[in-house]
Amino acid sequence: MEKHFQILIIGGGTGGIMVAAQLKNKQPDLSIAIIEPSEKHYYQPAFTLVGAGTYKMQHTIREEASLIPSGVEWIKDKATILRPEENKVETEKYGNIGYDYLIVAAGLVYDLSLIAGLEEALAKGVVCSNYIDPEYTWKCLQDFKGGNAIFTQPTTPIKCGGAPQKIMYLAADYFKRKRLDKKTNVVFATPGSVIFDVKVIAETLMKVIHRYNVHFKPFYAPVKIDPEKKIAYFQNIAPDENKCVVNEGNVLGERIQGQSVIEIPVDFLHLAPRRLRPNL
Ligand SMILES: Cc1cc2nc3c(=O)[nH]c(=O)nc-3n(C[C@H](O)[C@H](O)[C@H](O)COP(=O)(O)OP(=O)(O)OC[C@H]3O[C@@H](n4cnc5c(N)ncnc54)[C@H](O)[C@@H]3O)c2cc1C
Repeated sequence: MEKHFQILIIGGGTGGIMVAAQLKNKQPDLSIAIIEPSEKHYYQPAFTLVGAGTYKMQHTIREEASLIPSGVEWIKDKATILRPEENKVETEKYGNIGYDYLIVAAGLVYDLSLIAGLEEALAKGVVCSNYIDPEYTWKCLQDFKGGNAIFTQPTTPIKCGGAPQKIMYLAADYFKRKRLDKKTNVVFATPGSVIFDVKVIAETLMKVIHRYNVHFKPFYAPVKIDPEKKIAYFQNIAPDENKCVVNEGNVLGERIQGQSVIEIPVDFLHLAPRRLRPNL
């Protein structure tokens, strides 16, 4: 017989588990199920620390079974088709599962093809990303010997909008401790106009940016990577507001190509891929 739940949740990540726990707390007799194929749960906020070498990847991983709230059924399967007109979700192994209310918490898909050259650059190890492999970020930081260390923010909202800059602060501190800071240009390139859009936080962050001598580059949207030449390309998305994009002395070796594309040679590049769509 087909299973049916009052609440059916697709995805047993942080979102799915938290919503199940809160509903169960509020109303213990609710029948709730979570569809989640993975036996492992990854605590992604700690990926930033893994990338900076201050936390072990294995500590971010928990058994999914240990996190499913008590009284909630775990359907270890993948949702494949939504049938909202019948209040059903089709799964790979267990067929249809019925619900009164459906919660979709399946995470996001990154589309690497939205930045030209990114897939190739990742394959060649020219780029690292805490969103893909934080242990590799840490390896790249340890291998870095000085030069341009570039951290970028994508042009779409992503999970944890602050993560691209958090790794930059930790890396800047690491370079200082390794005495690499004098021969390193740390760059934070963002399509945004400010470092953070809450004024009081932005003011504090700008003090940190100055303390670590970070080159803050607003209106820089990452668009392309040339993994052979090790060059990152940025579209200056507000040329009228930001005419003077090249720093005095041009210590970064920036070049302006055509109307508003800026090239920067990279010795270290951290990138957060653009988000495509929900994971279903
Ligand atoms: C590097 C990094 C740093 C971060 N730092 C912070 C931070 O400091 N603070 C903060 O609040 N947040 C932070 N976040 C964001 C936070 O981790 C996410 O917002 C959170 O994990 C999102 O939870 P979620 O449940 O929506 O998605 P996910 O955690 O991605 O979970 C989605 C789940 O859905 C499952 N799933 C996918 N497809 C299907 C399917 N078809 N059927 C069934 N299940 C499916 C997956 O297996 C997965 O378990 C960070 C994220 C990253 C990557």
